[in-house]
Amino acid sequence: MGVRQRPAKKLNKKTTKKVAKKATKKIAKKAAKKTTKKTDKNKALKKAIKKTAKKVVALPGLGHEVHLFNSIVELIRITSAEIPNDIQKVILEALAAEEKNTTAEYAMNIIKANIELAKKKSQPICQDTGTVLFYISHPANFDQIKFTKIVHKAILASTKKGYLRQNSVDSLTGENPGTNLGPGHPDLHFHQHTKNTVEIKLMLKGGGCENVGAQYSLPNNELGAGRDLDGVRKVILDAVQKAQGKGCGPGVLGITIGGDRGAGYVYSKEQLLRKLDDKNSNKVLADLEKDIVETSNKLGIGPMGFGGKTTLLGCKIGALNRLPASFFVSISYMCWAYRRQGIQLKADNSIQKWLY
Ligand code: SF4
Repeated sequence: MGVRQRPAKKLNKKTTKKVAKKATKKIAKKAAKKTTKKTDKNKALKKAIKKTAKKVVALPGLGHEVHLFNSIVELIRITSAEIPNDIQKVILEALAAEEKNTTAEYAMNIIKANIELAKKKSQPICQDTGTVLFYISHPANFDQIKFTKIVHKAILASTKKGYLRQNSVDSLTGENPGTNLGPGHPDLHFHQHTKNTVEIKLMLKGGGCENVGAQYSLPNNELGAGRDLDGVRKVILDAVQKAQGKGCGPGVLGITIGGDRGAGYVYSKEQLLRKLDDKNSNKVLADLEKDIVETSNKLGIGPMGFGGKTTLLGCKIGALNRLPASFFVSISYMCWAYRRQGIQLKADNSIQKWLY
């Protein structure tokens, strides 16, 4: 025998109206709460951007995006205006080592004064604020697309604020949009790591020193450079000779032995993220780095090519696998205005610590 269903209670017109009104009120209240929350969030974001630059539109929705925006703007400001301690230390040591009352000492003193003034005034160390290169190490599930959008907003704000010069132009038309944004600029390199933290390193690489970077394919008969370490040494010293008087020395070399042409240059710039006083864990490369600095500083090229003892402040070399058919040596040259900094973020995207 089947169970008899109780017929649904028929609501009269008055009750139906009452229930509908109550439900509508509840939904409206919920929606208003959501809107207020969203508005507050947008307000905070807009306030942060306005504080940094005029006419910057709201950021996309990313947790703690206000903190992230502020952290990146601060990273750009400090990188542009302050030389990291490890570089400054070597510059001061080089100044002390130069002969007194020489053009070399004069040039090093100008560099020192420039560094101090930029820091004091919180202004760019050089009028060329360079190519903006970001290196981001992050855990899994990191939203690279949203991060990139916030970086773009931060660059726009930093350009308006004067931390970055309007420096990036359309390669075909030469037009400068004045934003420092466009294809390939900024240049972001993401790297997933096993730690829970996000680390952002920034390098501002000037055009003059980028122009004296070089790539050699070994063997190089003109230089008598074979496919061995002696050949590598010969082409590196050739690049140092060719850079003299250009590239705003004293400089620092970032070098890759091997790789293909593209990877070689990318990795050579990553060598410039190393601290100047670190030691290469590969003994062969550590010895070559030391030898290149010592030999270059005996060439008499000196700061700005004026003669003297300081041609190079450092040399950092890495090696990548290569094909048996090729042997590239890729050299990136960094000028004395060695602008690189880094931050580690807290969970709320504010700055936990500085990395240099
Ligand atoms: S090479 Fe360096 S110091 Fe020279 S103009 Fe460019 S950024 Fe400035």
